[in-house]
Amino acid sequence: MRALGRLRRVARRLGGRSDGKVLILLYHRVAKLDSDPWALAVTPRRFAEHLEVLRQHARPVQLRELSQALHYGNLADRSVVITFDDGYADNLHNAKPLLERHDVPATVFVASGYVGRKREFWWDELDRLLLQPGALPERLQLIVNGNTYQWELGEAAYYTVEDFRRHRGWRAWDKSPTPRHHLYTSLYEVLRPASEEERRRKLSELRRWTVTAPARRSNHRALSLEEIDKLQEGGLLEVGAHTVTHPVLSALPPVSQRHEIGKSKARLEKILDHPVSSFAYPYGKPRDYTAETVDIVRQAGFACACSGFAGLVRRSSDRFQLPRVYVRNWSGDRLARQLSRWFDG
Ligand SMILES: [Zn+2]
Repeated sequence: MRALGRLRRVARRLGGRSDGKVLILLYHRVAKLDSDPWALAVTPRRFAEHLEVLRQHARPVQLRELSQALHYGNLADRSVVITFDDGYADNLHNAKPLLERHDVPATVFVASGYVGRKREFWWDELDRLLLQPGALPERLQLIVNGNTYQWELGEAAYYTVEDFRRHRGWRAWDKSPTPRHHLYTSLYEVLRPASEEERRRKLSELRRWTVTAPARRSNHRALSLEEIDKLQEGGLLEVGAHTVTHPVLSALPPVSQRHEIGKSKARLEKILDHPVSSFAYPYGKPRDYTAETVDIVRQAGFACACSGFAGLVRRSSDRFQLPRVYVRNWSGDRLARQLSRWFDG
């Protein structure tokens, strides 16, 4: 009893605050895709299973609610926030109806420069140009940022539908099964930190080099202006900023970082006609942004920002570097096991 009294006194001193374990889940797409090198998509059927599991085993809340709870120090245990990065149109067409059916809120972080554009996100375009069935020239030479790169495709220059099917489960972090896959991953690494202008130039060189690249895929497009508006209708989904061009912020001088962060907020606020209070760092690993980036985000007037490194959110977490856990195309059972590992492990 004395121990209980002491506990109560401690609780009173903390103002009744509790330190719950909270998770922010990181999704990108709800779609059925033929190829998905970065495992960005969860199928609609599986996503519905995820929502059922989250309703049963956790407490889905808005990111805004989590940010306020962090501020006041009253995090409800096993709260879960759903987030989507990049702003793919399938977030509206496939994810929103399921979120509504299960009454689960979510935040969609939109890269504002892709809004309303027909072009694919650059990593998807790379997939379309290099990893789809068809013939490519045998040799590629590309000068990026003054460095000359050369690749030989050999027999993989010709890529049949059977080849494509065989490798469609390939992930970019796996060993490359053909020279095409090697070309994809090495070009990805070279283009990722390049400036937007340089990357665009190189992608158009690449398009010319491929000669007969497959047409742009509409199921890979970003949200349009009207779709962003529809996404937030009903108040269950909120929109956050994710820069303009999705750069590696740490590779940019502070003035350009400020532009990317401030411009994306301003553009989205203009579209939505209300303040945008959350931000997510593109790529999001600690090497992809700096302490200066975090300051710029704070000064831009956001209430919180999400990173891309794994972990639980605790009362001590930095509101401007909230950890998130990636969710893959798991079955509902697998997600339930993951949840108990994250919460109780
Ligand atoms: Zn992103």
